[in-house]
Amino acid sequence: MSDQEGNRDNPYSFDDYIFVKNNFNYYRDDEFFQALVKKYLPFNELEKIDLELQELSDIVSFRFKALADEATRLENRVKCTLIQHYDAYNHRIDKIKRCSETETLEREIFDLGLFDPKRNSPWSRFVKMFLLYQIGESGVMCPIACTHGAVELLQKYENELEPEAYNILTYLRDGIGGYKLGSQFVSEIQGGSDVPANLVEAVFEEEEGSDGVSNCWRLYGQKYFCSAMQSDYAVVTAKPKNVSSSTRVAAFVVPAWLPGNKEKEIRNSYTIDRLKQKLGTAELPTAEITYNGAVAYPVGPLEKGLADIVGIVLSLSRLHVALGMAAGLLKVTREAILYSQFRTAFGVPVSSFPLMINQINDINHNAMRSAAGAFKVYSEYIHFNEELISGIRELQKIEDLTERKRRFRLRELIMLQKIVVADDAPAIIRKAISFFGGHGIMEDFIDFPRLHRDSLIMELWEGPRNVLLAQIHRDFQRVAEWYSADDFIKDLLEGVDQKTIGNLTTEFSKIISHDTLLRNDEETLEICRDWERISNNLFHIYQDQALIELNYKGKPLKFSRLLRKFKKKPEEKEILVEL
Ligand SMILES: Cc1cc2nc3c(=O)[nH]c(=O)nc-3n(C[C@H](O)[C@H](O)[C@H](O)COP(=O)(O)OP(=O)(O)OC[C@H]3O[C@@H](n4cnc5c(N)ncnc54)[C@H](O)[C@@H]3O)c2cc1C
Repeated sequence: MSDQEGNRDNPYSFDDYIFVKNNFNYYRDDEFFQALVKKYLPFNELEKIDLELQELSDIVSFRFKALADEATRLENRVKCTLIQHYDAYNHRIDKIKRCSETETLEREIFDLGLFDPKRNSPWSRFVKMFLLYQIGESGVMCPIACTHGAVELLQKYENELEPEAYNILTYLRDGIGGYKLGSQFVSEIQGGSDVPANLVEAVFEEEEGSDGVSNCWRLYGQKYFCSAMQSDYAVVTAKPKNVSSSTRVAAFVVPAWLPGNKEKEIRNSYTIDRLKQKLGTAELPTAEITYNGAVAYPVGPLEKGLADIVGIVLSLSRLHVALGMAAGLLKVTREAILYSQFRTAFGVPVSSFPLMINQINDINHNAMRSAAGAFKVYSEYIHFNEELISGIRELQKIEDLTERKRRFRLRELIMLQKIVVADDAPAIIRKAISFFGGHGIMEDFIDFPRLHRDSLIMELWEGPRNVLLAQIHRDFQRVAEWYSADDFIKDLLEGVDQKTIGNLTTEFSKIISHDTLLRNDEETLEICRDWERISNNLFHIYQDQALIELNYKGKPLKFSRLLRKFKKKPEEKEILVEL
């Protein structure tokens, strides 16, 4: 019988749990994150970046977290579905009003100059993004991912860009006049997977338009999924008319407002027709828009647009999906495990029930391997100086076979990681929610409902699972002459035991040697089923290997230890939250 039996003034309190959760510093208190940073960062950068991370973590863990929590309140989420089309004087303005907390968060995160080479190195950029993704505020982190893609694409053609496009690069990357936001508009109403079927047209027009611009490309047509609609510049796909490659998709960068027009709220000849009402990433405005002659600047050769968009812009977003989810999972798992140690049922902490112990170990292992895998994959991207190759054709031009294979592995790893982490994340978060019982569903109790909703989106955008599985299969057929499926597995899983590699190689080679995934017959159906399973196995083994290589020996989380530790600390956090 409880010693509170018959007590009408029920003294139960969550305060100790909330205290520990709210005092946890995402970098300073997380030995696992620190171990990853220590393993992967080059020795000559480690001390400096470690210090920068500590300082940033003091802000992210408290101030940014508080801003993100406010932005996710229902009344604030609704704002991203509402748009003011006209002002009082009949001017079309298509004004989006977001909650001020998201706007503050966005400004402060963009002011970190993440893509500015004067302020961040590839590694400091990555680990700062990993830290920021722990609060997973999609309203801000989606434009961060898109800006990253836009910068990389523009940088690839830095020496060939028209002056206007070059200026855009300097606004996005170098913060000339304040760091600006990027977005990417590819999907159309008839389909997002099939980008070559895009219908938006680009027309080169010599005569001067009503905006005073002449001799420029202009866009016409609809884009149906335009996230980060608040951004300043979008990378947009369109088919250029009256050129030899008119059936092929080209890449353009398109200002949301022409110079001087943002303050006047005159958009660059397009209308925002509607804001979507979404299950997840609700703090992010996603729009349906119509271009009516928007001024656009080509990026790269017109006929290479598709390869550049998929190979660079979407690949980077896929890296972001995975690293973002992996970072978020560390936080989710930590908070769920701490709650299970705090909460009691039948007189004991719920973490002590064998059914729970297995679940705790499972989500913990999954989160740790996702993070270790994300660091390992990203280290390959940094190995190649953060330059992605646009497509297999460009890859084939690399003379050095060892390098060509390594680049191919990175290309496939990015897709594999995206589909597997996006598949794992909703399941892990759902399990973590269950640790809280009914409280896990309460939006104002914990941010897991938001993170769960957002995680469902990750599977769909930037290439749905099926599309990427089909793409990987096709890629292997195209490189069969110089990279066999067997060799790929052996190279990718270096360090893994021979038996595991042997089993996987047999299954993987069988799938890859099947000529197509598009035929509807018994054999293909079976191959597709196997491929769904094997792709997950393959990447999980890669993640497990990354975790083994980390050789992490830190102390397991302990609620009571953290409670004692934080009670001793000065109340510096509260000061930061109030800033
Ligand atoms: C919240 C949100 C925000 C978004 N923001 C943006 C944005 O900012 N910019 C942008 O350009 N897009 C954006 N998108 C669009 C997203 O990229 C597309 O939804 C996605 O590419 C899929 O396109 P679709 O929705 O037209 O699906 P479809 O292309 O119609 O696909 C439907 C189904 O068919 C399957 N399928 C398609 N091809 C194959 C194949 N070869 N083999 C097997 N199965 C196949 C797909 O896997 C999917 O399950 C956003 C989407 C969401 C949900």
